[in-house]
Amino acid sequence: MHIDRKAQWAVRQAGLPAIVRRCPDCSSSRHHPSGKIRVNANGKLLDVWLLLTCDGCGRTSKVPVHERVHVSALNAARREAYEANAPAMVRELAMSASLATKNGYRLDWAGTWALETDTPDPDPDGPDPLTVRVSFDLPAPVRVERLLMLGLGLSRTAARRLVAAGRVHLPVPVDGKVHQDFEFTVTGTAPATPGRLVEVPHPVAREVHQDTLVLAAGR
Ligand SMILES: [Zn+2]
Repeated sequence: MHIDRKAQWAVRQAGLPAIVRRCPDCSSSRHHPSGKIRVNANGKLLDVWLLLTCDGCGRTSKVPVHERVHVSALNAARREAYEANAPAMVRELAMSASLATKNGYRLDWAGTWALETDTPDPDPDGPDPLTVRVSFDLPAPVRVERLLMLGLGLSRTAARRLVAAGRVHLPVPVDGKVHQDFEFTVTGTAPATPGRLVEVPHPVAREVHQDTLVLAAGR
C-alpha cells in the first residue's frame, strides 16, 4: 500500500532586501531602511518618506512613499504606523515591489531568507510519493531548483537528474522563481540513491513507465 508522504517547508525571513540604487557619496549601491519613516504635514496634505541608510558610508537618503496626499486618503491605522515608525510598516515598504518600480530602484533578495523543513532531508527516493507544501514568510523570489537542493539535501546535479527523470511535478519550470506558497510532488520509486539514477534524456523520461525507469536506475 502506498502512503502519501507530506512535508512542510517554510521560507523564513533572515533579513530585509537591499535597496539597490546609486549613492552620491560612495561607490556602494546597497541601502537598508534606517527604521524611520518621516511624515511631514502641510495643512491637510501629507508627505511620507521611507528613510534609508547607505551600507557603504551610512549616508541617509529618503524614498517618497506618498507625496502631497490628502490626510483623508490614508486610513488611520496606516497613518499611525507611519508616525510610529512601526517595524511592520518599515518592512512592508522595504519589500514593496511597487514602491521600487515607482522610484526606479531594484531589490536584492540575496541573503534575506532561509529554508526551514519539518523533516530534514526527506528521502526523495522513498517508495511513496512525497508532497511538499512550501510557505513563504516574505515575498523573496526563490529559484525552485535551489529549494529542491536545500529541502531534499541534493547536489545541483542530483536535483537536475530528479527533474529530468520526470519525477518532480512542479507548478512552474524548475529554473523559474517563486515568491509565494505552492505545492509540488515527487513521484515515489523503489529505493535508490539519486546518484545512482541513470540520466535519461528528457523526452524519453516522460514516456518511460515508472517501473522501467526504476529498473534502469537500479543497474
Ligand atoms: Zn554611500
